[in-house]
Amino acid sequence: MPRTTQKTSAPTRGGMTAAEPAEIQRLVEDLDGMLSRLRLGAIREQLDGLLEEAARRQLNLREALAWICAAEVASKEQRRLSMAMTIAHFPFVRTLEGFEFEAQPSIEPGKIRDLGTCRWVANGDNVVLLGPPGVGKTHLEVALGREAVARGYTAQFTTAMELIGALVKAQQQGTLEMRLAQYAKPKLLIIDELGYLPLEPEAGHLFFQLISRRYEQGSVLISSNRPVDEWDEVFGDQVVAAAILDRLLHHSHVVTIRGDSYRLREKRRSGLFRPQAGGSSSAGIGGVAPPIPAEEV
Ligand code: ADP
Ligand code: MG
Repeated sequence: MPRTTQKTSAPTRGGMTAAEPAEIQRLVEDLDGMLSRLRLGAIREQLDGLLEEAARRQLNLREALAWICAAEVASKEQRRLSMAMTIAHFPFVRTLEGFEFEAQPSIEPGKIRDLGTCRWVANGDNVVLLGPPGVGKTHLEVALGREAVARGYTAQFTTAMELIGALVKAQQQGTLEMRLAQYAKPKLLIIDELGYLPLEPEAGHLFFQLISRRYEQGSVLISSNRPVDEWDEVFGDQVVAAAILDRLLHHSHVVTIRGDSYRLREKRRSGLFRPQAGGSSSAGIGGVAPPIPAEEV
């Protein structure tokens, strides 16, 4: 008999009609298929365990249904989170919990924890992290970025060099508009390591275009080893630097980190590193800092 003409007791709006045991059996056999069609993959995969647990806890039907749905919701949320983390391109995993505030007394823990709530992302504000190499700027960028993603915001991590390289290339290829739109898209754009190398004025101008594109639309979290009053050297043009700073700092939180490199502190502790007599333990303070080797970052 064709399926459509079958007398069916499948649930209707009014509830399930008195079902023939055979009919119920047919539905049970089709359960896997129905769960797939409804894209309830987690329930499909965990069904036996979920039902056993519901029975063990003696849940009533409504409770059991809620229990089973919760498994699907948790799994979907986990998937969304891991996809968003992948899209964000964080270079490694760092968290706010993993940040030792005692190691960096110039940072006010309350201020960072407040930034961890991501209200600034909701408001489209910017955060500028300033400080010498090794003091935890990238760590905080990744940790704050992860907090933002966990709260459902889109984020993208990039380095200043990568970003500017991509913009310069796009301009040469006539695809600048597309690239700018791409970098304008995430709610939070994280730009790491501005200032390690000075930029050509043309690159500074492209950077300005990006910042003004994002201005009051999405947040920028940017880190630099150079204080902002040296940014005209970074951008190779005073006017462009002033225009960038004007937009970046308008609605912004600036965190200035002073102190020793955490990397060198760790090395000193393990006895691998002894500071040179009279030398600063933080390479590059006050001068143009050398780029950090990738494996140390
Ligand atoms: P920066 O970006 O300022 O050069 P990083 O964030 O790359 O510094 O820090 C260098 C390394 O030291 C990273 O592995 C980072 O996780 C770690 N680190 C820095 N500061 C702290 C801190 N206060 N607590 C825990 N780890 C830290
Ligand atoms: Mg860094």
